[in-house]
Amino acid sequence: MTAAPRLQPFADTLSRFVFERTAVRGALASLDDCCRDILACHAYPPALRRVLAELLAAAALLASTLKFDGSLIVQLRGDGPVRLLVVECDADVALRATAQWREDAGTLPAATDLAALAGGAARARLAITLDPRDGGPLYQGIVGLEAASVATLIEHYLTASEQIASRIMLATDGDRARGLLLQRLPGAGADDDAAWERVAAAAAAIAPGDLLGASSPAAFLCERFPDTDIRLFEPRAARFACGCSEERIGNALRLLGRAEVDGILAEQGSIDATCEFCSRQYTLTTAQARALFADERWPDAGRRAAPAGGLPH
Ligand SMILES: [Zn+2]
Repeated sequence: MTAAPRLQPFADTLSRFVFERTAVRGALASLDDCCRDILACHAYPPALRRVLAELLAAAALLASTLKFDGSLIVQLRGDGPVRLLVVECDADVALRATAQWREDAGTLPAATDLAALAGGAARARLAITLDPRDGGPLYQGIVGLEAASVATLIEHYLTASEQIASRIMLATDGDRARGLLLQRLPGAGADDDAAWERVAAAAAAIAPGDLLGASSPAAFLCERFPDTDIRLFEPRAARFACGCSEERIGNALRLLGRAEVDGILAEQGSIDATCEFCSRQYTLTTAQARALFADERWPDAGRRAAPAGGLPH
């Protein structure tokens, strides 16, 4: 281990590292309070908690590979016990999640896989979207749900979209999540093939309990890859943060359209909106709601597609 930064606690961190003199890189995610806080926003059934926790760790690992300033959004749509599941991680490792599920999701065993939660692989879609903050083009990759585990699904996505051989391991106890990503960089030579084989073999021997029980990224990497020089970069803090605001709720209402908003006002006298991610409540008086449509920039409101999440309900 060379040039390791001072030892940091493992909790709520995303740490990148490289295997020195090889074309292998990786990242370790540890989501503790951050994962608990996100899962505490809704009364998720146990099977959904586990899948969300794993997807949160996977999203942080995927975000560690991005070279742009924006958000990575993992979205599952199905018509089984879980209809919608959204996990977001931005370039600052701020994470949030939400889901829509039926009551019978509560009766599923905790170990139910993603495809079964979504009603079967044939009827579910997992989309991974990269949303640049500068307003650049969205990139979206669709992943088939044939694989059973979240880790295998994400490996397939990385191999197909980036053409980079990847290994992902995810572990959760239902409250916190940890993940390890290993990638073989493109353009590597024969020596790197051997290095990748060694690293992949060592990774295959890692059990979920090893990840959950590790005390720090440095200790974990030293123990699991003992004969390899690893440069560990300064860990970055991972946290729960929701980007909702009165302004965004206002924009969602504008997209809903004046007629719809007037209808709610006539019925309820005000508009109560709840953020689908963090459950924060927003209340708009009639005057506040009407003021949203005073601006001429929104003449076509109501005709546009509504965005996922953030709409009042
Ligand atoms: Zn929110």
